[in-house]
Amino acid sequence: RELDRAVDAARRAFPAWRARSFADRAALVKQLSQKLREHQKDLAELLTREQGKPLAQSVAEIDRGAAQSDGMVGIEIAVEVIADDNDKHIELRYRPLGVVGIITPWNAPVNLALGPLVSALYTGNTVILKPSPYTPLTTLKVGELLNEVFPAGVVNVLAGGDDLGAAMTAHRGIDKISFTGSVATGKKVLASAAATLKRVTLELGGNDPAIVLEDVDAKAVAKKIFFASFVNSGQVCMAIKGIYGHEGIYEDLCDALVEEARKAKVGNGLDPGTELGPVQNKMQYDKVVGIIKDTKKAGAKFLAGGEIPTGPGYFLPPTLVTDIADDSRLVQEEQFGPIVPILKFSDVEDALRRANDTRYGLSGSVWTKDLSRGAEVAARLEVGTAWVNQHRTTSAFVPFGGAKESGLGRQYSALGLKSYMEPEVVSIAKR
Ligand code: NAD
Repeated sequence: RELDRAVDAARRAFPAWRARSFADRAALVKQLSQKLREHQKDLAELLTREQGKPLAQSVAEIDRGAAQSDGMVGIEIAVEVIADDNDKHIELRYRPLGVVGIITPWNAPVNLALGPLVSALYTGNTVILKPSPYTPLTTLKVGELLNEVFPAGVVNVLAGGDDLGAAMTAHRGIDKISFTGSVATGKKVLASAAATLKRVTLELGGNDPAIVLEDVDAKAVAKKIFFASFVNSGQVCMAIKGIYGHEGIYEDLCDALVEEARKAKVGNGLDPGTELGPVQNKMQYDKVVGIIKDTKKAGAKFLAGGEIPTGPGYFLPPTLVTDIADDSRLVQEEQFGPIVPILKFSDVEDALRRANDTRYGLSGSVWTKDLSRGAEVAARLEVGTAWVNQHRTTSAFVPFGGAKESGLGRQYSALGLKSYMEPEVVSIAKR
């Protein structure tokens, strides 16, 4: 089987790769990001053609991937001295795990591959990378660039269906799985990895709340919230998926969001001026249309969108909904499409309770002019990342990952990099 051959190649390449210094490996990662920049135009166009997102956002995805790669290889993983006295010296070292299997989804295939890929490579592991069957093309193209930079066997890109992913999670020759995708599949990955006690990082779905307090300038905040909700037509793990507006600014906030929705240009991602592309595939389109229909049936009010366009493609307008129950599908499920509820609250305690009443816990945000109050409220969101006056900001130096059923472990930063390594204590008796 191709997977066995790839794992063999990765295992054979591992000893020489791990023996290189961090600086050596960093230099090759930097060559990769250089190549990504050189090929940015072609890669971005291919990404838009297969994924649907507007070209400018594809360009930005390649940019961000390259910048984060450069950032990560600037992070030092040092030996940590735990104790050093007359009797003993104890230190904590980190060594690479071996072969890392990376499985990615279809919403941001380049960026979501590069994060784990660079983490694994820089820390001395070799890699098998499998893109989503919905978006294999740009990843395969990146694979060609990887082959120009890294020694044979160090990175192996295999396109395939869900069964290939499952085979990777069960494979005895793979030491860790870094999985990005849905909660349901993440649970299968964890269960399958248990048989060989593989290390696992899971970056799963989210149902991010944005809590807008009463002191904001509704218009200014609406612009930012709209983009953080509808970018990539809502197909972002950490998109805002429920907007909680204080009753004092609720009407203004709704009006300002509706204005943004009216202005947004939906269409072919290759057309200049397009701001929102289609839903990426039929499975997801049917799911989102199902949620729109259920929301209608429940008697909710549609402030924008709501109609299902006829015509080719999986295009849906940005859709804003009010007067909807907290136990509705739209509020409870991860919609992962261009429809967002705006929920009213009068007491921030109530907003926090409702926002936390979910099995998801990826990220969330609080919007206010009072930064210290914002930080207090944000810290009470049960999430991996709580932002104040921003949403969706990530960096190579800041850990990212989900609380509760939104994930396991963290990517990026020294914390993330160390999850691609085995900690090993070396304990020396001095007498
Ligand atoms: P998915 O879970 O359906 O598929 C993801 C990947 O897993 C694909 O490559 C697929 O082929 C593979 N796969 C399917 N079954 C498998 C199995 N049994 N074992 C191993 N691999 C298997 O997810 P999707 O629909 O492609 O992606 C959308 C989801 O990803 C959303 O829930 C979104 O929130 C989430 N996501 C999370 C993050 C994050 O960083 N937390 C980022 C982006 C997307």
